[in-house]
Amino acid sequence: MSEHIKCLIIGSGPAGYTAAIYAARANLKPIVYTGPEPGGQLMTTTDVENFPGYPTGIMGPQMMDELKQQAENVGTVVNYGTVTKVDFSVHPKRITIDAVILATGATAKYLGLESEQKLMGKGVTACAVCDGFFYKGQEVILVGGGDSACEEALYLSNLCPLVNMLVRRDQMRASKIMQQRVIDKENIKVFWNTQTKEVLGDDAVTGILAFNNKTNEDFEIKGDGFFVAIGHKPNTDIFIDFIDHDDAGYLITEAGSTKTNIKGVFACGDVQDKIYRQAVTAAGTGCMAALDSERYLAELELT
Ligand code: NDP
Repeated sequence: MSEHIKCLIIGSGPAGYTAAIYAARANLKPIVYTGPEPGGQLMTTTDVENFPGYPTGIMGPQMMDELKQQAENVGTVVNYGTVTKVDFSVHPKRITIDAVILATGATAKYLGLESEQKLMGKGVTACAVCDGFFYKGQEVILVGGGDSACEEALYLSNLCPLVNMLVRRDQMRASKIMQQRVIDKENIKVFWNTQTKEVLGDDAVTGILAFNNKTNEDFEIKGDGFFVAIGHKPNTDIFIDFIDHDDAGYLITEAGSTKTNIKGVFACGDVQDKIYRQAVTAAGTGCMAALDSERYLAELELT
């Protein structure tokens, strides 16, 4: 007997659950597969103060729990499970799925140090826009030399008296204009050829042990926040053979919509956004994906 799913949502971050809320209210009977990290990146953040509607902020895990409850309350079925393989080319499918919303997000890259892992959420973070405010008036450290790192350094420089920026080579990967903005900013101090050996602190970050890979010298830098901005990896491995994507693996959607190159497959949230990456933008595109699915299914029924 074959099963019929009207709308399958893969991923359970703000994009996935917002898509689910809209899809359920449109009677698409969505089924969410949470993926290996139910709730996504917000599960590893503390206070979220920039999501509209929470005047005193909300803890990331609580927000995700409430989004899940909201999705379930309007009729979404949430399955704790991972979609490990897709084949958008096979007909007939054993499970018939009319529309699929891809909301598998992206994963921030970290340096991989034990001390970094130990102080995660206690000063170590991968999102300046999310967490920078908590370090207002304090000195911070930021790692990375790409456009994200430059953007985050500039963002932090408006909050913090000093941003120590560590670049592992003698040049940045970022676009020239972003580099220039960073260099021109008086309170961003760039350490070239510098890498992190250890993140220091017991219960909270107090600084780092750095080393210069040209001179092989070790030295300490003080700072209360340690921001890692060395890139993200979109969680798109299982879709890559079917869905158009850019060189970094981000899914490509039609301008102004969430449509991918495959009919009936929509993408939303960080899996298709390497620029903004905010909970609220993910939720926004999640809503778009549900509306796009609804319209797609309505058109199918007409033909
Ligand atoms: P990138 O991959 O462009 O840059 C990553 C940076 O982190 C590089 O400087 C890299 O160094 C450094 N890095 C990587 N691993 C380590 C490590 N283990 N230790 C220290 N440093 C490390 O990632 P971004 O997130 O910056 O950008 C991703 C894409 O998004 C780019 O195409 C970018 O242009 C785009 N983007 C555009 C924005 C905009 O237009 N406003 C804003 C943000 C991103 P190295 O150079 O030595 O490899």
